[in-house]
Amino acid sequence: MPEYAFFKGEFVPIEKAKVSIMAHAFNYGTGCFEGIRAYWNEEEEQLFLFRMREHYERFHRSCRILHIELPYSVEQLGEITAELLRKEEARTDTYIRPLAYKATEGIGVRLHDLEDAFALFAVPFGKYIEKEEGARVCVSSWHRISDNAVPARAKITGAYINSALSKTEAILNGFDEAIVLNENSHVSEGSAENLFIVREGKLITPPVTENILEGITRATIMQFAREQFGLETVERPIDRTELYVAEEAFFCGTGVQVAAITSIDHRPVGTGKIGPITKRLRDFYFDIVRGKVEAYRYWCTPVY
Ligand code: PMP
Repeated sequence: MPEYAFFKGEFVPIEKAKVSIMAHAFNYGTGCFEGIRAYWNEEEEQLFLFRMREHYERFHRSCRILHIELPYSVEQLGEITAELLRKEEARTDTYIRPLAYKATEGIGVRLHDLEDAFALFAVPFGKYIEKEEGARVCVSSWHRISDNAVPARAKITGAYINSALSKTEAILNGFDEAIVLNENSHVSEGSAENLFIVREGKLITPPVTENILEGITRATIMQFAREQFGLETVERPIDRTELYVAEEAFFCGTGVQVAAITSIDHRPVGTGKIGPITKRLRDFYFDIVRGKVEAYRYWCTPVY
């Protein structure tokens, strides 16, 4: 359990950070959030927040879509986050959860004319899926939310019912994760992570117009794959059956990090083991996030 939260403009003990059952966001899912990781670097005895700026920029964009007025700039949010981690004396890998939401207590579905609130907490965090080196996944029977109904580009709390439905179906059916198709029957992403496949040695990922969350890990991988390994990513729609014939496939996201997919709908991906490109990108990613790659140190914000 965390000790503190940032709530109603100040740091408070976590047990004081409580929201009413009448809160608008609790009733209607009218909030948005971020998920940021901080990585502990043992040699330097330092905690690094990974791409915090980009997370808070996306947070601001989500708020804009939801008519939420955030009283803090990207820089101020970064300062509050580092301060919270120092108060927690966090010296381990940590997950940070900022939330912006409609706090008004009362009935009536809308986005305008409501009180906005911001809250933040952080918890120690390891793996998100158990089998990071070989997940067995299925194509979900649930479709991804679509931009003109519930925009996937905003990280909206209520929208995560879509992720939860597909995740639970996958787990109850004996899989580790789900891949979700959009209303055009194209691949969008995993239940809470973006997806890449490899075909003929090339990285392919759905474009931002396929009802994906515009993932920061996705952008990270596209950049360092190009700069470090000369691997370009093709952003184009992906058909369901391309999943079955791909040489490699992997999920990526703040939570899942980089996780190899080794079977899809009971068909082995490639050799059925983590592929060479996935392995290389995965290893490099773990070095980057701990601040071990000089060229990408600018993505890592020290807490201490
Ligand atoms: N898609 C969804 C639906 C997610 O919830 C997440 C996790 N935030 C991602 C993709 C990955 O995004 P990011 O790399 O920015 O964490």
